[in-house]
Amino acid sequence: MEILVLNSGSSSLKFQLIETSPEQIEADSDRVRARGVVEKIGSGEAIISIEAGGKKTKTSEEVLEHRDAVHIAASCLQSSGDLEQDQIEGVGHRIVHGGEQFTQSVLIDDEVLQHIQEAIELAPLHNPHNLKGYLAAREMLPRAKHAAVFDTSFHQTLPRHAFLYGLPYVFYDRLRVRRYGFHGTSHRYVAYRYARLFGKTRRDYKLITCHLGNGCSVCAIDHGRSVDTSMGFTPLEGLLMGTRAGDVDPAAVLHVMAKEELTLHEVSSLLNKHSGLYGLSGISNDMRQLIEQSEKGNDRARAAIDVFCYRVKKYIGAYLATLNGADAVLFTGGIGENAPSVRAQICDGLDSLGIVLDPAKNKAAQGEICRISSDDSACQVWVIPTNEELLIARDTLRCILGLPHP
Ligand code: ADP
Repeated sequence: MEILVLNSGSSSLKFQLIETSPEQIEADSDRVRARGVVEKIGSGEAIISIEAGGKKTKTSEEVLEHRDAVHIAASCLQSSGDLEQDQIEGVGHRIVHGGEQFTQSVLIDDEVLQHIQEAIELAPLHNPHNLKGYLAAREMLPRAKHAAVFDTSFHQTLPRHAFLYGLPYVFYDRLRVRRYGFHGTSHRYVAYRYARLFGKTRRDYKLITCHLGNGCSVCAIDHGRSVDTSMGFTPLEGLLMGTRAGDVDPAAVLHVMAKEELTLHEVSSLLNKHSGLYGLSGISNDMRQLIEQSEKGNDRARAAIDVFCYRVKKYIGAYLATLNGADAVLFTGGIGENAPSVRAQICDGLDSLGIVLDPAKNKAAQGEICRISSDDSACQVWVIPTNEELLIARDTLRCILGLPHP
């Protein structure tokens, strides 16, 4: 079955066309027919990068709305002569927030749509843009079945003691304030991929998965169930990220707000867009640049990397306690997959907890599945590249065929 996967952000649309079937999932032979991204939606000079039919193209044209971007995505294969648009039977939408409503991916009907709309107040920075992609795709591909794959649903298994905040209970009751967790598709995918290596399922292991990209989160997975995760009510909590602050004493934020006379909008922007690696280093949110600058002796770049690594280490320690030991720690995301020095710094000094890296294997591991722990490390450490699009395509197929989500 041909599935179009859409990840619709505020000014970008990432897409992939994936051919999949139950047999292909079993044989791990799903096929990416095309992939692309439309950036700077809303401008006269949007950038469209497409890889289809063995050709890569990069063009620039006016793309004023998500509708136009979805049209580009749906027709890119047609233009490469490979597939007709009406052969697309399913569309998988990445939806960031599903509230407490969704514990797994679902086909979108009016009721589901209403719940996604109700979750907008929980994720005002994400859900509205995800919805724009859905509405445009529904109009463009009315015969296809559309599925919602939520970042939050994997974490709906969190026990109450992990998802409640120490605020008056009424705010959970009335305003739905609690830990939701995000990146669920990625955590679930790498856990699945790890288990596949041994011919088992993720339900056979206790895992700590570290998704370290622009956004970063850690997840404790107890025999297939997410039991804690570092992101919270929004993706702002937890680890230091590219531009997000992660954990910070709320009183410090109130103090800055009062002293600098910031509005709610300004403080949200401060915490989401001007903090993290970028805010601490004053250089960049890009880990590559920070590593380069720190090697040249830039102390602020060093400080940002140190805080980043220390925090991941702290969460690994916490989740080893949560899980009472883990079978493996998995690194994924742009930084987790490609930055050996960061992985080494995170895992340094964890030997008493059973985590010991093999320096040579760690150094060699870049963007491919690879075990990087030493042979005598009680807890294994692996690099496992994530593939959220593939999981979205597979979930969409399962929703359409009525198959269970493993
Ligand atoms: P997103 O969360 O936007 O999908 P990615 O998962 O692609 O982001 O991760 C982006 C991060 O990965 C950036 O900080 C980038 O610098 C970092 N990164 C990518 N390649 C490397 C590398 N070779 N060394 C260090 N960091 C890297």
